[in-house]
Amino acid sequence: MTSDMSFPAPQFNEITAPFWRALEDGRLTFQRCAACGHAWLPPRTECPRCLAAQPRWETASGHARLVSWVVYHHGYHDWFAQRLPYNVAVVELAEGPRLISNVKAAQDRLRIDMKLKLAIEREAGVALARFAPA
Ligand SMILES: [Zn+2]
Repeated sequence: MTSDMSFPAPQFNEITAPFWRALEDGRLTFQRCAACGHAWLPPRTECPRCLAAQPRWETASGHARLVSWVVYHHGYHDWFAQRLPYNVAVVELAEGPRLISNVKAAQDRLRIDMKLKLAIEREAGVALARFAPA
């Protein structure tokens, strides 16, 4: 088994760069369709509901709720093995979009629908959208 202690950094490209730059500035952003009003993450070039192009960016309030989660007890990547056990959560923003994140709370405190607030953290020089109990 090979060891890889390098940070599995997010992919930056012309579609995702505005999202990551906003996080660097302390804002979590999502996209909204100018045609039908649907809002979503992760970033893409067209609305997943009506396929209209040129979605606009909006800044999230930071209010969210916990939809679901799993707790990892095995590190499938060496970077994450250092923090076992940890959770990987589906979080729904108050504005509607969902994203995969982590909730900064003891695993036995996690509850479906618990209120969360945005907690941007830097890891290996990258700003990441995490959440904490509200
Ligand atoms: Zn649309």
